[in-house]
Amino acid sequence: MPDAMEETSFLAGLAAAVSTLAQREVPGKVAYDDVVQRAYNHFVLRTLVEDDFRTPGSVPEMIEIIADRPVQDWLPGSTSETVLLHGDTFSPTQECIELVVDNRRDPFGEKYENEILKLALSACQEADSPESYVAFRRLLITRPALTQTELVLQRGELDLLPVADLLDRCYLPVSPRLRRERQYAECARCHCLLRPVGRDSWQCDLDRCRTTTVKVRRYLDATVPGGILQLGLPLRTFVTGPGLFEIDLEIALGKRGLAVEMWPGYDAYDLLVTFPDKIRWAVDVKDYANPGVLGRTFAGLPSTPPRDRGFLVVPDYRRSANKQYAESFRYARQSAGRSSDSLSVTFQKDFLRAVDRKLTSTTALEGPNA
Ligand SMILES: [Zn+2]
Repeated sequence: MPDAMEETSFLAGLAAAVSTLAQREVPGKVAYDDVVQRAYNHFVLRTLVEDDFRTPGSVPEMIEIIADRPVQDWLPGSTSETVLLHGDTFSPTQECIELVVDNRRDPFGEKYENEILKLALSACQEADSPESYVAFRRLLITRPALTQTELVLQRGELDLLPVADLLDRCYLPVSPRLRRERQYAECARCHCLLRPVGRDSWQCDLDRCRTTTVKVRRYLDATVPGGILQLGLPLRTFVTGPGLFEIDLEIALGKRGLAVEMWPGYDAYDLLVTFPDKIRWAVDVKDYANPGVLGRTFAGLPSTPPRDRGFLVVPDYRRSANKQYAESFRYARQSAGRSSDSLSVTFQKDFLRAVDRKLTSTTALEGPNA
């Protein structure tokens, strides 16, 4: 039976293969990349020794075996419930992308998402313009897909000038696989491009949208000059996805009359909330499917800009999908030797309840005429 380390390494390799295959422009290309061939060879070796498990005869058969099914169903000795591939769109799941990035098997280019955010940070710092960084983050969250003309317009925005050149590295030409006839479709919930499924349905890559029926916000003509562009998958997974919850929180806190600063101190954390009694709460929002990966990798909340309390907030739907989410996070954190900050996961609703309790107690202390 394989040990846990060996299984993690095998799954990371397979996740990288799945992500690489998803980016192939030509599905029929005969030669596979090394990362795919290696993962396939390992898959065959692991399943050959167990009669109860199916051994694939080709890469497409391996993909068919793993689509929509948890690892424990097809990998001998595994108890993992991770699903690597969506069966409807044959695109990698969010958990698959997290595994790839966590294990630095990055087929997207050397730490693509981190590198872009760092470049944007230093460009905005050089221009001494924190508002440019905020505008950049907001653009990546609210406009993950653009026409070439829209991109040119964004490049001309005053706030975005320090990062104008970087935008070309963020917005990449879109694969024709996302197209149905002459059209791409934008998701009504996250504004990312959808994937065509069957004759007339569409499906979204982000877990947050897969929890409900997907709706189309607008159709984009694939033949417009310059074509259609979209953020790369890691940016959509790690910036757009959680960013939508960051903005939801910003709105919810604003409705309570609270002052909110987004990505303060050039992105030290995601939100800084200041209460009427000047107490400051810092929030980082993470939307990881796998609480283990989050527990292992989350570096903790920085102490500057100064704050009185720090929260790691996770969207509620992650708790609905995995009742053990908070426990798995804690266990992974302890195992990785990161538990000294005693940080735990706070779900979105619980965080807003804590905000309301704090507001009530502050108002009670100050009295009705304060
Ligand atoms: Zn969506």
